[in-house]
Amino acid sequence: MSSGFSFRVENQLSNRLGRTGVITTPHGEIKTPAFIPVGTKATLKSVLPEALTELGAQALLANAYHLYLQPGADVVDEAGGVGKFMNWPGPTFTDSGGFQVLSLGVGFKKVIAMDENTFESDEVIADDRQRLAHVDDDGVTFKSHLDGSMHRFTPEVSMQVQHQLGADIIFGFDECTTLHNTRSYQEKALERTRLWAIRCLQEHERLTQERNGKPYQALFGVLQGAQYEDLRRKAAKDLSQMSVAGRSFDGFGIGGALDKQSLGEILRWVNEELPVDKPRHFLGIGEPDDLFIGVENGADTFDCVAPSRQARTSSVFTKDGRVNISNAPHKKEFFPIEKDCSCYTCKNYTRAYLCHLFRAKEMVAATLTTIHNQHFIVGLVEKMRKTIENGSFFEFKHDFMLRYYAKA
Ligand SMILES: [Zn+2]
Repeated sequence: MSSGFSFRVENQLSNRLGRTGVITTPHGEIKTPAFIPVGTKATLKSVLPEALTELGAQALLANAYHLYLQPGADVVDEAGGVGKFMNWPGPTFTDSGGFQVLSLGVGFKKVIAMDENTFESDEVIADDRQRLAHVDDDGVTFKSHLDGSMHRFTPEVSMQVQHQLGADIIFGFDECTTLHNTRSYQEKALERTRLWAIRCLQEHERLTQERNGKPYQALFGVLQGAQYEDLRRKAAKDLSQMSVAGRSFDGFGIGGALDKQSLGEILRWVNEELPVDKPRHFLGIGEPDDLFIGVENGADTFDCVAPSRQARTSSVFTKDGRVNISNAPHKKEFFPIEKDCSCYTCKNYTRAYLCHLFRAKEMVAATLTTIHNQHFIVGLVEKMRKTIENGSFFEFKHDFMLRYYAKA
């Protein structure tokens, strides 16, 4: 308890793995389930940290890979950690860099929601891309997407970088595969990730001692195993039982290749194996239907770049589905994106004005739509928490889904 990090479960969803709880970190509490906005390079693009608080965000997730390349983890360390550096007082997460190293490096475009199972290969590479990353048993050598310089991440380097970045919750370095990899490759990669997890715990323990006096950083082990039940369950068992010099994982991240259809099932497999008293983060999930399935199947926190990315391309969330606010029909809509939305954007601006800003390519367009989209998704997961508490989760899910996906 002296670490300043803890997790407690509060309410359980009947007959499901879903629950509400509270994660306590040295920088404050996160009431779960919760959606964590992504600030890739230590900024939620186009939005001030104050706005992040106002829209209801409880924490922020930054990317180790990006901050390692720019401005450098040493700069963030000297600044006092990622939260201090960007003037965000609340809890922070960093991912391990594994996903970025491999996705940007190998050039595969999408890991989540890949439906095509038409071919299997371990040499998957996106069109027109050069292979920029090579994995071996010790780590990954990759080329910077910024200047082409060569770098190497190992479990130890990832831990060192994440300790310098100083987030409250950090992740183990894993090999992220795709659904296109062969079964035998998945097995090999999973074993590699298991061995890397042991090295992460060792290095994390060493750094925690060495950097004594800094706020405690909780380490989450990352579960891979793609679409295979036996591999996913094995990963969950291996990592939850793992202990190095008395130190075990403080929580778990569920990552890697998932297709939309099997996402709930995969989550159920791993959460049936994981201890109930440790938090579970579902990496890279942010679509409303996926969030409902995630919460129902026992995930506590989520992150995704999608709500911001979509906002910047003028796509905004409404209870009736997504709307492209720059389209002609909105030119004279002198009312907010959503009349009953309590976000700053909806309280102060009309659809007509947002439509104009996008067409005129004004920068504040992205600021206003990002605030709304983040508020919508953060608020949606918060509502899931409230409805688990008052016993109306499934009614809420039914009504929301029916309306949101009516057009589809
Ligand atoms: Zn709004």
